[in-house]
Amino acid sequence: MRTPSIFWFRRDLRVGDHPALLEACRRGEGRVVALFILDDSLLAATGLTRALYLRDTLQALHDEIGGALLVRRGDPARVLVEVARECGAGEVIATNDYSPRGRARDERVAAALDDVDLTLSLLDSPYLVRPGVVRTQSGTPCRVFRAFTRGWNDEHHPAPFDAPVGVTWERLDTLELDEVVASAQRRAPEYFGDLATLAPAAVGPAGERAAIARLDDFVPKVDDYAETRNLPSVDGSSRLSAFLRFGALHPRTILAATSGLERGRATFASELCWREFYADVLYHHPDSAWRALQPAMAALRVDTDERAVERFRAWALGETGYPFVDAGMRQLLSEGWMHNRVRMVAASFLVKHLHLDWRWGAKWFLWRLSDGDLASNQHGWQWTAGTGTDAAPFHRVFNPTLQGERFDPDGTYVRHYVDELRDVAAPGCLQPGGGAGLWRPAGYAEPLIDADAERREALVRFAEARERAKVLE
Ligand code: FAD
Repeated sequence: MRTPSIFWFRRDLRVGDHPALLEACRRGEGRVVALFILDDSLLAATGLTRALYLRDTLQALHDEIGGALLVRRGDPARVLVEVARECGAGEVIATNDYSPRGRARDERVAAALDDVDLTLSLLDSPYLVRPGVVRTQSGTPCRVFRAFTRGWNDEHHPAPFDAPVGVTWERLDTLELDEVVASAQRRAPEYFGDLATLAPAAVGPAGERAAIARLDDFVPKVDDYAETRNLPSVDGSSRLSAFLRFGALHPRTILAATSGLERGRATFASELCWREFYADVLYHHPDSAWRALQPAMAALRVDTDERAVERFRAWALGETGYPFVDAGMRQLLSEGWMHNRVRMVAASFLVKHLHLDWRWGAKWFLWRLSDGDLASNQHGWQWTAGTGTDAAPFHRVFNPTLQGERFDPDGTYVRHYVDELRDVAAPGCLQPGGGAGLWRPAGYAEPLIDADAERREALVRFAEARERAKVLE
């Protein structure tokens, strides 16, 4: 009698274009246990928005395989052994996870399974080129995007794989999917205060079918992507990030869907490459999730006192009085997503105008984003803060008002998200406080800080950090 294989779903919650799942079907001769494990140690630090989005993604997968997704809770090694005993499986197959905690977990689980003669096979990856492969010409890991992109473009980008056919999905006792949400959001840092209990965002569509629909919708827009991707009021970027985060779609499928397009495709592929670059950097430097990649910048003086916590709160609530920043932060609160241009400006504001630790902002983003991804988020923050890759120089400080004037010239984006400015025409709605003198709209926040003065303060702190680093050399 053939025995089923266990397919352990993690960041690959789809059925199509899934070589690891195909292999599980082959090894189980068509009989597969589709398993997802609620690992409390991972979920406790997950914000409610991402947990809701994960639940919806799992629901979509469950529906896709005829209601046969098995959800269990607990330590993965223990759960896998239990499930293997229940169904008589001899092996577990999963997609490689390259995150620091994922790698540590998989090593531990593989050893524990080995003790009871079960094997864990890890295949494929959530990337076009798996982390660790691309190197500089001298063979070292890449620290700058330009070197990585050169190597990445030279690598083979495989075509998508067909979905498995004729699978018998085994059925065993399962938990309700709402357990995902119940397991989340227990560990918030102190400086979140009452922000930790804010209602979650209304998350967007989830799962493989929604991802394919969004991809189909986006493909005709790729031609204009190079121009529109920077305009937050235009639906010009793919909005595929949360699908990619949970693996409802593989980048193979995305790249293949854009093949043959002339304009915009290279720019779009380059954005996918940023995702792979940051995964590669985190793979080589797991500490960089929470430590400055450039040690010299770790000496940067940041504020942590009561006023800092108040400023953090104003920033998180979108009440800084800087309309472009506030619009972004409110988009994050309401949708669990923020436009890339505004992510950069809002992050820069936290670090360079409010003098807060980039990790505070990164934690908040992970708490509220549905696409929250350790590699892209932490290195997006480090890039903006000038502590990470590519040395975006610390002294280049985004002016939050000029950024709004440049990328949202008629104020459509700002007026959409900042209710108090709904009736204020540009350029007033883009100015600190929403306008000057008599034109200042009632109810909108006064500017929290003087951006010019704080920019100068940031440069003083930067010079100090550099001096301190020289002394330590
Ligand atoms: P598109 O412009 O359509 O790009 C296509 C895909 O490429 C995206 O879905 C994403 O997977 C990838 N991508 C695009 N830009 C980047 C980038 N700069 N870095 C890494 N990948 C990129 N992205 C996340 O997926 N999760 C995060 O937690 C995250 N946090 C960020 C924090 C900061 C401070 C900054 C500056 C950026 C962050 N990004 C993050 C990157 C980027 O903002 C989002 O990927 C992008 O806004 C998602 O929208 P989209 O799918 O429409 O992107």
